[in-house]
Amino acid sequence: MNWLDSHCHINDKAFRDDLDDVLNRMVENNVLKAMIISSYIDDYDYSLNIKHDKIAFKHSLGVYPGDVNELDEKLYEEYVRRCKQDECVAIGEIGLDYYWDKDNKERQKEVFERQLKLAIELDKPVIIHSRDAIADTYELLKKNRCRGVMHCYSDSAEMAREFVKLGYYISISGTLTWKNAKEPLRVIREVPLDRLLIETDCPYLTPAPNRGKRNEPSYVVYTGRKICEELGLNEEDFQRQLNDNYHELFGV
Ligand SMILES: [Zn+2]
Repeated sequence: MNWLDSHCHINDKAFRDDLDDVLNRMVENNVLKAMIISSYIDDYDYSLNIKHDKIAFKHSLGVYPGDVNELDEKLYEEYVRRCKQDECVAIGEIGLDYYWDKDNKERQKEVFERQLKLAIELDKPVIIHSRDAIADTYELLKKNRCRGVMHCYSDSAEMAREFVKLGYYISISGTLTWKNAKEPLRVIREVPLDRLLIETDCPYLTPAPNRGKRNEPSYVVYTGRKICEELGLNEEDFQRQLNDNYHELFGV
């Protein structure tokens, strides 16, 4: 069995110089599946050309909440055209971010909801980004029922349970391995195993013991092993569960 990274940005400029090495380290660490998230058209087009004969990549595209001010109709149509392609198996990351921008909440909600409706129309899952906006996120997801994952989940264990009730998966990032992590440890106990995913969100949120360095998909093993340690799980059983969850949500 293998590990997987359910959310990575190896299309980021941070990886342009040594992507082959990054991919080879994934194979060394047995990370053989990865979802590449694109927030920009150029990144998506570039991502489709990332290949490795031992790694299975999937692709996702969506308008990031931090970019809604620059979005016009013509550009949105470019997103939609690609979201309809078979290669694009999910819409995201989409959502709300009131940490970086709280002056355009209505615009963020409008673009988020529009993409939720697109996902429903295309029958594709969504990848949700929510920062300092959990109540509004929940409200819109309850109103527009999709399948999907709460990416890099960083809110309370109680809210995690509510998202699970809505049918969502909860994806855990490297912050679980950080010294000050408390709530993520409660979250992994609250969420049923058949609703858990793991991710790096690289190049950000590097897990211990590499905190401070650039993050990369091969480091997802630190998060996976930490969960096994905390929950007393057999590594291979957990890998099998993660693979099942990943395929259940994003397809085989
Ligand atoms: Zn991301």
